[in-house]
Amino acid sequence: MDPRAQVESLLRPDLRGRTAYGAPQLEVPVALNTNESSYPVPEVVASAMARAVAQVARDLNRYPDREFTALRADLAAYLSRGGVSVAPEQVWAGNGSNEVLLHLLQAFGGPGRTALGFTPAYSMHPVITTTTGTTWVDGMRGVPGAGRFDLDVATARAQVREHRPDVVFLCSPNNPTGTALGLDVVEAVYEATTGLVVVDEAYAEFARPGTPSALTLLPGRPRLVVTRTMSKAFALAGGRLGYLAGDPAVLDALRLVRMPYHLSTPTQTLARTALAHADLMLETVGVVKDQRDRIVAELTAMGLSPVPSDANFVLFGGLADAHATWEALLERGVLVRDVGIPHYLRVTAGTPTETTAFLDALAALVPTHAGAAP
Ligand SMILES: *Cc1c(COP(=O)(O)O)cnc(C)c1O
Repeated sequence: MDPRAQVESLLRPDLRGRTAYGAPQLEVPVALNTNESSYPVPEVVASAMARAVAQVARDLNRYPDREFTALRADLAAYLSRGGVSVAPEQVWAGNGSNEVLLHLLQAFGGPGRTALGFTPAYSMHPVITTTTGTTWVDGMRGVPGAGRFDLDVATARAQVREHRPDVVFLCSPNNPTGTALGLDVVEAVYEATTGLVVVDEAYAEFARPGTPSALTLLPGRPRLVVTRTMSKAFALAGGRLGYLAGDPAVLDALRLVRMPYHLSTPTQTLARTALAHADLMLETVGVVKDQRDRIVAELTAMGLSPVPSDANFVLFGGLADAHATWEALLERGVLVRDVGIPHYLRVTAGTPTETTAFLDALAALVPTHAGAAP
């Protein structure tokens, strides 16, 4: 038997034949496909990081602080800036919010349990769910008479009642569609389930004015958790730091499944240094939001159908063959994301120059590529 077949026969049956997560990491002039920040870490912060890591380097013979106490305090202080008071005892962190989600599923999912999400949403939610042996239930978005990608109270509540999941994922602002959820939906889902409700707020900092965070709903709701990340607005995707706010009892459950010392000393140090310079790290959020709004306006003018966005990206429809447009943009040096929704593509809002490159490339294609109704 060839090695591949031998290994395949040993693999967990539910993993056989699967393909791994694979957003292309291509070298292109204009990379607008994974919602990273296009802006490098500011020089002042980069050198502060280098100094801080140099200072801890000689102590790397020791394990890191298993409870990342100082980092939790810094994250709590950062979340509390938004006007809701979050205590360090309510904050958990991991190597990216993906690891935080994994901890949640390891603790609250597992074989015989189910997790419900409303798709199209973040593609990693079902991957993380099934990786832990939890059954994924594919719920639907779409409100008759309103947006095709909207999720309203009635639709969400009905699906929660029907499937009785152990974990419910809500994503707000939603990736890949871009729009934030009303808090009435979060409240209704919480009331409709006895399970854990996870609100993934990876893009919260980009939301349009007046968009409240689910953090405001935490008091009195011990089954609610809100996840955040430093990968997007904080421009620290390479630092791998995600976190959540929730009830201390939830955190104790996560301590049962995390590997000890999961956050390395350099990781904790880098994240703390970034948080100490939060205003500087977040300085480009305004520019990115402007580019996002510009993309929505210009695509509308081109006759395409962008979805209203509270994030650092825009999903747009109205393409005859989305994959053909994806390829044609790539030929012009612009990498966007084909998220698998027919007639739609997703583009990250980058620098003004990158946005111009994308808009120019797309404008040249529209006469032949525009087509199907959104
Ligand atoms: C990008 C993204 C994340 C971030 O994952 P990290 O592991 O923190 O880099 C989480 N949730 C959603 C919806 C995302 O789009």
